[in-house]
Amino acid sequence: MAEHESLEFGKADFVLLDNVSMEEFMANLKLRFEKGRIYTYIGEVVVSVNPYRAMNIYGRDTVEQYKGRELYERPPHLFAIADAAYKAMKRRNKDTCIVISGESGAGKTEASKYIMQYIAAITNPNQRAEVERVKNMLLKSNCVLEAFGNAKTNRNDNSSRFGKYMDINFDFKGDPIGGHISNYLLEKSRVIFQQEGERSFHSFYQVNSCINDGADFKAVADAMKVIGFTGDEIQTVYKILAAILHLGNLTFGVDGDVTLIENTKLVSVLRELLSTKEENVEKALLYRTVATGRDVIEKQHTEQEASYGRDALAKAMYERLFCWIVGRINDIIEVKNYDARVHGKNTVIGVLDIYGFEIFQNNSFEQFCINYCNEKLQQLFIQLVLKQEQEEYQREGIPWKHIDYFNNQIIVDLVEQQHKGIFSVLDEACMNVGKVTDEVFLQGLNGKLAKHAHYTSRKLSPTDKNLEFDRDFRIRHYAGDVVYSVVGFIDKNKDTLFQDFKRLLYNSSNTVLKAMWPEGKLSITEVTKRPLTAATLFKNSMISLVENLACKEPYYVRCIKPNDVKSPLLFEIERCRHQVEYLGLLENVRVRRAGFAYRQTYPRFLQRYKMISEFTWPNHDLPSDREAVKKLMQGCGFDHDAAYGKTKVFIRTPRTLFSLEEQRAEMV
Ligand code: ADP
Ligand code: MG
Repeated sequence: MAEHESLEFGKADFVLLDNVSMEEFMANLKLRFEKGRIYTYIGEVVVSVNPYRAMNIYGRDTVEQYKGRELYERPPHLFAIADAAYKAMKRRNKDTCIVISGESGAGKTEASKYIMQYIAAITNPNQRAEVERVKNMLLKSNCVLEAFGNAKTNRNDNSSRFGKYMDINFDFKGDPIGGHISNYLLEKSRVIFQQEGERSFHSFYQVNSCINDGADFKAVADAMKVIGFTGDEIQTVYKILAAILHLGNLTFGVDGDVTLIENTKLVSVLRELLSTKEENVEKALLYRTVATGRDVIEKQHTEQEASYGRDALAKAMYERLFCWIVGRINDIIEVKNYDARVHGKNTVIGVLDIYGFEIFQNNSFEQFCINYCNEKLQQLFIQLVLKQEQEEYQREGIPWKHIDYFNNQIIVDLVEQQHKGIFSVLDEACMNVGKVTDEVFLQGLNGKLAKHAHYTSRKLSPTDKNLEFDRDFRIRHYAGDVVYSVVGFIDKNKDTLFQDFKRLLYNSSNTVLKAMWPEGKLSITEVTKRPLTAATLFKNSMISLVENLACKEPYYVRCIKPNDVKSPLLFEIERCRHQVEYLGLLENVRVRRAGFAYRQTYPRFLQRYKMISEFTWPNHDLPSDREAVKKLMQGCGFDHDAAYGKTKVFIRTPRTLFSLEEQRAEMV
């Protein structure tokens, strides 16, 4: 709890509110925003409101103010959280993670960059060259990932169109020695289609070197060089981008029953960019090889199929390129030659910057996946922060008023459960022999989920005005109701790319491109396994993400977007209230207030503080460590702030702990 700030800026920790009500919470958040205090704590959680203006609070001098300090010693700041995560890792050898959440434009990516900058600034005091090199690469990798993974949207000029989790590895001295990046669900449909006012990924404009993006292009190419991409690799990257741009201009026509390419000049451009044979490019665009029993035949595409194939190729090439870039960065930054037997444990700080909850006018497969991801993260938050906290008090026999909160596990199950869940129903619909349509999928949902409290559809609730179209279904998410249209679910889930394209790219004489398409090696008769569906891949990646986070000590940054017009002055109260609600911040305050800031087992507590009391120094003769700690706390006048559990002492306010530390420092 940070109490040192003047009250004119509001309460620095929501735990200090007089009454925990939505009204008081919002009033405090608004006041602080208007006073330029964009960060506020809930215990160790940072609530951040996007200021939409440059703040002079990230410089070297601010870094110095937070370095090595305790959370509650300074005004709330991202740096304090970064420092807490760093200290936990360094002092206690714990792997930690910082989970940053919030909707698009709320400030997640900026926050993750400030956190990384802070960690870079406070480490490597001895200026070891190798560590400096690693730090430089970790920072530069952001620039490359943003070029390829970000785009201008109506919500955010630099919107991340992928989820990112980055592990930074530290050696026993606490200096960064490497890292690893995982990326989630790139919005590849943006390559072929953008809403009005939006753009495709930055990289396309940079390669086109339009007036504005020309300088960025050089910055990205330089960053790639610094990270260690070879000249050939960088060349290939830009060739692929150019090829995708040209594909966008390629059109098909029909002459009698023959499908043909209208602008044939583009075929030779593509051939050159992809280092393949001209007739192969043309063939892959117009035919597909199919196996019928023992025969292999070449079947001509209809015009529609050819267009579908072209778009699928453009999307797949971009997605593959993006994943390849991430993979290359990982090859280069991964920890090498670290021997834990010699150097001690190598610890990790993970930073998660992932898309927040999305409710659009039209919600499709992508929003469904993104919102499922947020359900998973909310479940993790509940388990770690709310549930574990309550369970520990119960276990320890500490009197505890139960806090009611909505447990969203039921929605997580609705989506991911084997056989019954929405993803399973979708995969089943995709495997159907015979008719595979979005409607078949919707029938499947209605059949299996008719009674589910969090699912309904137009068919099940025909009079519901929000379910406008026959193809609509609705999920009651923890963050609110979202209506999805099933249109496109099947296609996006199957995510088919004809084997002919894979073979085309695999047979390229450009070895960098070839390496991106290893499965192109197989001929049509050798392709036996169905590739995993997009939903299954996403589900698996979410499950492993959550498993990974769950074994680390978590820190949270909750980002709030104050308005839709990028204004530094406007705090739209209803808009913000909605975010506070679905981030579960009020429940978070309640649990925190009912709870204790610090806890420690009796023996370890004594080990650290026994020197400050005559009853415990050098040893105590009381019947138990529990009694001894009680005596110590009474002697110091802290008894009112403590509770004594079966195995641990609990301290309510951080200030008490702070005083204990001070007294200890005077003694040793
Ligand atoms: P998100 O990743 O949540 O979609 P971003 O981090 O990209 O959002 O932030 C969107 C925009 O808001 C940024 O481009 C920047 O203009 C502004 N912004 C976000 N955080 C800050 C901050 N701490 N200080 C100043 N501007 C910010
Ligand atoms: Mg972002």
